Amino acid sequence: MTTVERRIPVMLPFLGEEEAQAAAEAVRSGWVAQGPRVAEFEKRFAAAAGAAHGIAVSSCTTALHLALITLGVGPGDEVVVPSLSFIATANAARYVGATPVFADVEPVSYGIDAESVRALVTPRTKAIVVVHLYGHPVDFDPIADIAAEHGLFVVEDATEALGSRYRGRLCGTLGDVGCFSFNGNKVMTTGGGGMVLARDPERLAHMRRLTFQGRVPGREYIHDEVGFNYAMSNLPAAVGVAQMEELDGLLARRRAVAERYAAALAGVPGLEFCREAEWAQTNWWLQSVLVDAERYGEDRNELMDRLAGEGIEARPFFHPLHRLPPYAEFARGELPMSDRLHATGVSIPSSASLEPSQQDRVIAALARR
Ligand SMILES: *Cc1c(COP(=O)(O)O)cnc(C)c1O
Repeated sequence: MTTVERRIPVMLPFLGEEEAQAAAEAVRSGWVAQGPRVAEFEKRFAAAAGAAHGIAVSSCTTALHLALITLGVGPGDEVVVPSLSFIATANAARYVGATPVFADVEPVSYGIDAESVRALVTPRTKAIVVVHLYGHPVDFDPIADIAAEHGLFVVEDATEALGSRYRGRLCGTLGDVGCFSFNGNKVMTTGGGGMVLARDPERLAHMRRLTFQGRVPGREYIHDEVGFNYAMSNLPAAVGVAQMEELDGLLARRRAVAERYAAALAGVPGLEFCREAEWAQTNWWLQSVLVDAERYGEDRNELMDRLAGEGIEARPFFHPLHRLPPYAEFARGELPMSDRLHATGVSIPSSASLEPSQQDRVIAALARR
């Protein structure tokens, strides 16, 4: 085997013969753009989430954009987002001309910190976007309380949290709108795509029109507003239907991987494996360690370098968004927990398909055995 073959990636998609067949059938059917699999995928996804309806879209980025538009967020409005997230979360606020306001995160879930949010709410605040980072649900009730108190909308960027639960409730169904991604490295993939869930059926209907260029249903090409081409097509939806069948198994595999890491890494000085809060059931999407350089003897970069040398891929945490060029002008004060997690966090191989022998290599490297 070559080094390339032996390299253990952080995340691999979990696709099998069923998905290949579903894609082939969609191709053979001639339905590659619009087609029957889209509605089927929406129905299955919504049913699994316990939601009435879902809309399949081209990505989570477009889902977030649609969420903010249909919530009426626009220029002059402020949207509170966590600084420790993927940049798409903040970009959606910019797409609608709103001002992203960066909140800090808390150390248990790595999710948005309610106290930080509370301090940032102004009369211009219109919405809070929560991100269930790396699959772990945010502590949602305190956020819901702030939203209720100030009349704010809550959007869930549930991209990474498919199947995760907050106090028994599924992530993506807690707020006004929930957004998911089926990109290649997420819990479930369609090669690229997303889904949006919303409480209000009218909002959902509006999103549906916006995904088809704002077209009013009917024979004529009547468009009553400027919309987008954001709909999912039949080919990825067919793969999505097949992936739905695998979902429970995928989640169980991830949990098994996490349990093995937790047990094996518990005694390693200076290394803290991610946890599950008592109010949470995480999907263990991206599993990570926090590195205390002094006690561990290596900082997170040194650890990542050493892992790379052993053919093990690792990734740093997201860069705090308020420190990135497009967002530096929006920074308001220090966000110490986002900085600390970024400085010490390393994501490790977390694929559902990770073999015990591969995981043993990762564990041995992390434990320096
Ligand atoms: C992957 C990701 C997105 C973007 O999803 P796409 O479907 O690729 O647009 C948004 N937010 C978070 C937190 C993500 O991890």
